[in-house]
Amino acid sequence: MSFFQDMIAVFKKKELLFLESFKESEGVYSFLFENQKDLTWKAGQHGLFTITHKKIKNSTRPFSVASSPTENVVKITMGISDDPSNFKKAMLELKEGMNISMSGPVGSFYLNDNSPSLLIAGGIGITPFRSIIKQVEAEGNRDGQQIQLLYLDSKKSYLYKDELDEVAENTSIRVTYLDSRDELYQEINKFTASYKNNGKYYIAGPKSMVDSVNAYLKNSDIPKPSIKKDALIGY
Ligand SMILES: Cc1cc2nc3c(=O)[nH]c(=O)nc-3n(C[C@H](O)[C@H](O)[C@H](O)COP(=O)(O)OP(=O)(O)OC[C@H]3O[C@@H](n4cnc5c(N)ncnc54)[C@H](O)[C@@H]3O)c2cc1C
Repeated sequence: MSFFQDMIAVFKKKELLFLESFKESEGVYSFLFENQKDLTWKAGQHGLFTITHKKIKNSTRPFSVASSPTENVVKITMGISDDPSNFKKAMLELKEGMNISMSGPVGSFYLNDNSPSLLIAGGIGITPFRSIIKQVEAEGNRDGQQIQLLYLDSKKSYLYKDELDEVAENTSIRVTYLDSRDELYQEINKFTASYKNNGKYYIAGPKSMVDSVNAYLKNSDIPKPSIKKDALIGY
């Protein structure tokens, strides 16, 4: 999506009806909102979410939409510490019937062709990939596209694990759980050795992780246009 399309999308604010929230794992919560008929997004994009049920400073944060467009619900998942920001306190106070506002969708973090694709998630960076692989599952065979998800979490606290395993079972998508950078780089090496110039690389996670994996790919001679990044700034 171009910069200008993003600018237009940002001005399209929608009120989303809160449905429910639940704990995914220690310190990680998901929030579900009713999908409005005119809201569409590409799997992997993010929205700008604004608290509207109370007045707080800095009331807007970007979040990847973790649900796929085919799921008919808007899902966001976020880390919430014991000492949350006012934004996240307000998220935990949402009750059935309240609204949140969403601008967008924005960003170009989505699969744009059928090239063999390596999806590299660090921690909470799994959120856009949940959307992407749910979409691939719903669409069925994308011309036999090779898709591999590498999911790195040093605490082995893998979000959506049951769902990811189910997709891996029902589709040709491979999901590999990792807990160290060394293992991650070994898996990246295997993929680059097989698909070097045809492969596409998608990295999402905390900025420091995205930067170092991006540098690693560049050192492995992966051309810049073959790499897409989603740095979840704020971690
Ligand atoms: C494209 C995109 C997608 C994202 N998707 C997700 C997602 O799916 N899930 C998710 O959990 N998060 C996501 N994020 C990050 C999210 O928007 C928040 O930044 C993050 O959750 C932290 O929010 P917070 O309210 O807890 O902390 P914040 O109050 O935003 O603070 C975050 C950190 O920045 C520091 N900080 C805050 N303000 C300043 C300042 N003015 N100067 C210096 N430091 C400051 C704080 O001390 C803290 O360490 C995404 C971000 C981007 C850009």
